[in-house]
Amino acid sequence: MYFSKAFIPTLKEAPSDLDNISAKLMVRSGMVRKLGSGLFELLPLGLKTLGNVISVIREEMAAIDGQEVKLPLLLPKELWIETGRWNVYGKELFRIKDRKNAEFALAPTHEEAITDLARSFIKSYKQLPVMLYQFGIKFRDEIRPRFGVMRAREFLMKDAYSFHTDDKDLEQYYKKVYAAYENICKRCGFKYRVVEAASGAIGGNFSHEFMVLADTGEEEIAWCHCGYGANSEKAECLEDIYEKSTEQVLDMEEISTPNVGTIEDVSKFLNSSAQKFIKTIIYVADGTPVAVLVRGDYDINEIKLQSVLGCNELELASPEIVQEVTGAKVGFAGPVNLKKKIKIYADYSVVNIVNGVIGANKTDTHIKNVNYGKDYKADTVTDLRKVVHGDICPRCKKEKLQFSRGIEIGHIFKLGTKYSKSMKATYLDANGKENLMVMGCYGIGVTRILAATIEQSYDENGIIWPVALAAYKVAIIPVDFENENIKKVSEDIYKKLREKKIDVLLDDRDERAGIKFKDADLIGIPYRITVGEKNLQNGNVEFKDRKNDKSKTEIIKVENIVDYVVSQIKL
Ligand code: ATP
Ligand code: MG
Repeated sequence: MYFSKAFIPTLKEAPSDLDNISAKLMVRSGMVRKLGSGLFELLPLGLKTLGNVISVIREEMAAIDGQEVKLPLLLPKELWIETGRWNVYGKELFRIKDRKNAEFALAPTHEEAITDLARSFIKSYKQLPVMLYQFGIKFRDEIRPRFGVMRAREFLMKDAYSFHTDDKDLEQYYKKVYAAYENICKRCGFKYRVVEAASGAIGGNFSHEFMVLADTGEEEIAWCHCGYGANSEKAECLEDIYEKSTEQVLDMEEISTPNVGTIEDVSKFLNSSAQKFIKTIIYVADGTPVAVLVRGDYDINEIKLQSVLGCNELELASPEIVQEVTGAKVGFAGPVNLKKKIKIYADYSVVNIVNGVIGANKTDTHIKNVNYGKDYKADTVTDLRKVVHGDICPRCKKEKLQFSRGIEIGHIFKLGTKYSKSMKATYLDANGKENLMVMGCYGIGVTRILAATIEQSYDENGIIWPVALAAYKVAIIPVDFENENIKKVSEDIYKKLREKKIDVLLDDRDERAGIKFKDADLIGIPYRITVGEKNLQNGNVEFKDRKNDKSKTEIIKVENIVDYVVSQIKL
């Protein structure tokens, strides 16, 4: 492609509403344009780069016998009613009506659609296993669209779904997908970590996330040198790490605490530490209030709580419900003398507290010297809190957990029979018995991969694309395209590289060399050949690898440059 003909609208400055480096660089380099909140147009350069990501993924899916399909983006409500997700997916689901008032979802994910497809054709164990996948647009009405294409409202996902006769077969296939995803990460040049994850709205009981490491990442991951890794929203806390104080167990005592609401205030008032505090929070789980206890210096992990409760909707109780359940204003709840009998869920961290402090279920009142077992009991004691710095690794139980930030680019799930059960997707086994198909599902944020790559690979001049993903592998920069000799050599190199099927951009514009260098660097083209008069006098051109610093260039004979570039690209 000649630059003068290319639609690459580069910008000197990024528009001010872009909030991270990759979004800024994608817009400045003319890859994308922002149309509205969470909506991006992919311009030729962006689409060409995306095409390279798609090729990598497609090859890896083919290697594990994935077969590509394309499903509609408009999905009938009825399918979503079957799985119950029409009502539980919440506000992220775009819902629309047709002219006859029939309702549809704009696909945020395709489990319903694919399960419907599978159940209509797969009847026998002989047709299993099978994996179907697509590159499909997804719509999600994200609360906070941000970071450019990273968290958009319309984005491209590769979503794959596999169907199996049993758990064992799924387990084997899951490992293959895991390996394929690792290959994709490696081929995209990522520094990454695979971590255990919570399953969220997709469901199932087992999942892994593929996290690209970047300080700007939205996710926090907890990991250990022993190999353990988990999304910090999933990372486990051990049961037996809380020492029990040997102080004498005292009897409960009510104390008046007017105008001291927060744990900090009460701790100060009573001259005790937050670790003595048994924080009690009232939640409403699918309409039913529950009390949840955690030590004062920790926080409740709502994702763990939701999975322990097994509920679809979990929210903090309103002040009215708190009043109804505890008999007090918000801030004075405790596990002793609750007005209403509700289930109590305690985190491991509270049971060893000796002479603890709780709200008295009475406004402006607390109780001190509260002890688990003697004064109150929980219906369930389990792991309900967020991990914190200093926590011990739950696997090796030796080292402290490390924390890093990451960008989730892929998420794989063992779904089991969650969807086949509700949608009655069955097959006949060798004995003619009807069984539910066992499923897995596997997503990759294809457009997010572009942004994640940039977050890991840029400098003050722009993007540094890994060769595998770069839209153009080579930029040819004639210092003066009007100069006959420079023009001839440049076009000759261009032709020869094209014959070798290498994507190359020849900057034929009537611009200063400095401007051409700037644009090539901004776009992130991996290799640059500069054709200038001085070097040509000795039969040479200048070669530069974008990854290296500015001053590191090589002088190569004109007749060798094509082979040299080819050898670099193959590296
Ligand atoms: P997140 O926690 O980031 O919201 P998710 O768990 O909702 O992601 P999945 O449903 O597992 O995401 O979707 C599969 C992949 O799609 C994710 O790993 C991510 O790479 C990508 N993805 C999800 N939401 C978006 C979005 N709003 N914009 C761009 N890519 C997205
Ligand atoms: Mg999400």
